[in-house]
Amino acid sequence: MKIRFIEPGNLPYRMSFKNLYVYDKYIRTPSNGIITLATILKREWDDVLCYSESISKIKWDDIYDADIVFISIFTFSANRGYELAEKIRAHSSAVIVFGGLHATLNYMETIKYCDYVTRGEGDEMLPEFVRRLERGEVPELPGVVYKKNGEVVVCGEPIPPTKLDVVPDRDLLYRFRKMAWHSTLWPQVHASRSCPHNCDYCSLVAAFGRRMRTRSPENVVEDIKAAVEFFGKRMLNILWITDDNFFADRQWAIETLNAIIDSGIKYSFTIQARYEVGFDDEMLDLLKRAGFEELAMGIEFLEDESFENYHKKSTYGEILRSVRNIQRHGLRTRGLFIFGADNHTPGIGKRLADFVIANNISGVLIQSMYFVPGTPVYESHKDELISREDWSRCIGKVVHYPKKMTPAELQREVIEASRLIYSRKRLIQAILHKRGTERILFIGEYFWQKDVRRDLKRELKFLESLVTVEEKGYSRRNIQLPSYHA
Ligand code: SF4
Repeated sequence: MKIRFIEPGNLPYRMSFKNLYVYDKYIRTPSNGIITLATILKREWDDVLCYSESISKIKWDDIYDADIVFISIFTFSANRGYELAEKIRAHSSAVIVFGGLHATLNYMETIKYCDYVTRGEGDEMLPEFVRRLERGEVPELPGVVYKKNGEVVVCGEPIPPTKLDVVPDRDLLYRFRKMAWHSTLWPQVHASRSCPHNCDYCSLVAAFGRRMRTRSPENVVEDIKAAVEFFGKRMLNILWITDDNFFADRQWAIETLNAIIDSGIKYSFTIQARYEVGFDDEMLDLLKRAGFEELAMGIEFLEDESFENYHKKSTYGEILRSVRNIQRHGLRTRGLFIFGADNHTPGIGKRLADFVIANNISGVLIQSMYFVPGTPVYESHKDELISREDWSRCIGKVVHYPKKMTPAELQREVIEASRLIYSRKRLIQAILHKRGTERILFIGEYFWQKDVRRDLKRELKFLESLVTVEEKGYSRRNIQLPSYHA
């Protein structure tokens, strides 16, 4: 069996000078998901290889004579994935199988473009799926969706895997080792899965459930060592622990941090965190000792009303106290924010910039809210979406009609926040007063954000052309979107 995996990008990979400092355009860190699955299948089948448009072009001759092509899609890459599937269908008799977050939640859409959708996580299911295909059987396994006589057949709910101790073989991803020197790519390790919370906009819990599952601390350490060796010496030696909520299982998190400390690994780490960790002094001390420099906090909003509306268990006061305590422990804080909540009004960009600057937040990621089918926020806002078919704009751009602004006004607020936070004055301050990683990151982000703003500005004209029900009495639905693919 010749097995290939493809991770489509939002845009196809393109060699560009910008790839040295702009993240998320023609370059981004490939996800560990397909590499992990390829590693598992490689134990039984010899000819397994992955492509990710995050770092390379696809070698089509190699894809066309594969027996099975797995395509893994996030929402932002779904349309591109469908495009690739149609191309494969036209040139190959390979069985096409979609998986990943978007396919899991939106399988009725995805099945139109392939032979099978596998929902959920494939670690334990995929080997049996391939065995059955090899025997010429229809792999009717929990989580599988396929078409029979034009009807969609859903073979039960996916069963989440429990044995997660796999160190992904990163060499199974085409050209990964050659690209690893780019400082825009991050060594990544995913140590646990899921999150016990239930925020309305979170596609992760909607797709994979709320039951935390963890890798053994020893296996996490082994993976960190492998990732560090794979990426070699770089300008920025930082490894990103990509868990959505590493700290949800406190005892395991403590054991894992102790294992990192005991291993003697000398490396810097960054990790995503909820505000609660900021009240846990023991955890913060351990993080510092293990080599963590920064916590990327999913702060999302600055108003208690938004936290309540979207069932994010948090308050502004708690966020502030948490940020201060984290900084007291010598760790930096980065903020992940969402614009476009129902109560957001013009001026939110300036409000966020003031908060970030006043509280010494070292960097930000600002996204306009997006709505993945299958999440509560999609159900409550599906009539407010600019399109229900073009998912390619779900990379932080405005994708809906906010309640108290026009789409163009909202996009301007994102631009304004970025402009104020990454101003020339703050760049000079960073060069003069920040040190080490923090300084390098700020300089890189300054140029990255400039590029992001340029893209956002470029499509303001389109957003301004959208009419609203209130203004014109037209339907908001079924607007034909221009293609944004390069
Ligand atoms: S805390 Fe984060 S990972 Fe957990 S449900 Fe909310 S958004 Fe998702």
